[in-house]
Amino acid sequence: MTTTAVPATDLGFLLHKHPDRVQEFDRSFGTATVFYPESGEERCTAALLLEVDPIALVRSRGKNSPDFSLSQYVNDRPYAASSLLAVALGDVFRTARAGRCKARPELPGRPMPLEIRLPALPCRGGPELAVRLFEPLGWAVEARAVPLDEGFPEWGDSRYVRLTLSGTVRLADALNHLYVLLPVLDDGKHYWIAPDEVDKLVRAGEGWLYGHPERGLIMRRYLGRRWALARTALARLAELGDETEEQLEPAVDEDAAAGETAADEAAAAEAEAQGEAPEVKPKALNVRRREAVLETLEELGATSVLDLGCGQGELVGALLARPRFARVAGMDVSAMALTIAARKLRLDRMPDSKRARLTLFQGALTYTDKRLSGYDAAVLMEVIEHVDPPRLAALELVVFGHARPQHVLVTTPNIEYNPRYEFLTGLRHRDHRFEWSRAEFAAWASRVAGDYGYQVTFKPVGDDDPEVGPPTQMGVFTR
Ligand code: SAH
Repeated sequence: MTTTAVPATDLGFLLHKHPDRVQEFDRSFGTATVFYPESGEERCTAALLLEVDPIALVRSRGKNSPDFSLSQYVNDRPYAASSLLAVALGDVFRTARAGRCKARPELPGRPMPLEIRLPALPCRGGPELAVRLFEPLGWAVEARAVPLDEGFPEWGDSRYVRLTLSGTVRLADALNHLYVLLPVLDDGKHYWIAPDEVDKLVRAGEGWLYGHPERGLIMRRYLGRRWALARTALARLAELGDETEEQLEPAVDEDAAAGETAADEAAAAEAEAQGEAPEVKPKALNVRRREAVLETLEELGATSVLDLGCGQGELVGALLARPRFARVAGMDVSAMALTIAARKLRLDRMPDSKRARLTLFQGALTYTDKRLSGYDAAVLMEVIEHVDPPRLAALELVVFGHARPQHVLVTTPNIEYNPRYEFLTGLRHRDHRFEWSRAEFAAWASRVAGDYGYQVTFKPVGDDDPEVGPPTQMGVFTR
């Protein structure tokens, strides 16, 4: 990867790898080496050399893996820029991919002239496909098929392509393009497709994959033709819901620590193959938030609940599953969200007794609406931060002034917690109009409670960090 931005040595800062050093990273499938063949003011090139150890590769696979054959031992992996290169690039340049640079925070946001060369890229679909995938992302693409054997042109081309990409692109984007598209072109993703592949795709594809003209092909291939996973990924890439933040995990700052990921994955696969239960992951924040809301509603003794900005209906579903909630309503401004909610809730197949307890309707929180009256409690879960600050007063009036339920539960991100998220650069979601500190939220909530005759108490949701507080904050208003 070469840049001609001046000073070109900034590439070292961005990649978090010093141009004067040769660094090796051991991975379960081989060794990745990062070095700089040239590093001058005018031109700087960083190289990632991956030496795949085919034996280690076989060993790190689960016993039940489908491909127990000679091809495990004799294959192109050591020689080609396969999905393994993407895995190596993904974790060796993890910090760069997240667009973070402590030493020079202004650098990652800047597009820079880049040239990326991949001498032997397995490319199912030929050079044309490489063009179709990279061109829409702003790359000038030169893709040439490598002949099977230069001595025998009549044998035709191999499935390998010599690829050169040039463009003025942010480095983090460039790395994420490669991270996603190399396995897509390779189309021979050898390791298991785990549900967390969706998380990886959603993270790496943020900002460019959803609008890509070949999105369908990219997702199908990346996810190994698992349609269900591809659909999940698509729903999450859409602006719907507020799920980006849940995919973020607390910061692990050093790239060095990332080495564990590949090994852990292999170990987990191995354990699973031997019938052991995989290690239980801590509960995702969205799950903990839903549980906190449900628990609070139960404590308050609410039996009719209005979920305002219900998104894809996850809370609505959980409420319906508990018979104590006799009436449940979900409202959202997005018709698309409601359509997905109806599908996820299997509205068409819902037993009549359950169906009778549920109302789903479209509406906007900034206009008074008779349909909002008559519930014990209203929930605004991760919704207020989607409303423009000048429109908040309207929301307050609609919810606290007109609907006036006995209780209102409001959850919103605690911005103080954001530095704990490794992949986060700005706010937690593209559509967030603001995120508040604990003090800002408390000030808003107390003022609203005072204005409309409510009392408010606060509850942390998620691990309450001694320094920065919990990831989510909740205000519980009672009339
Ligand atoms: N409560 C859900 C979804 C949160 S995402 C959850 O916690 O998973 C925010 C949701 O608020 C989106 O579905 C969005 O469509 C909705 N929303 C944003 N502004 C709104 C408004 N003015 N009126 C109604 N819904 C709104």
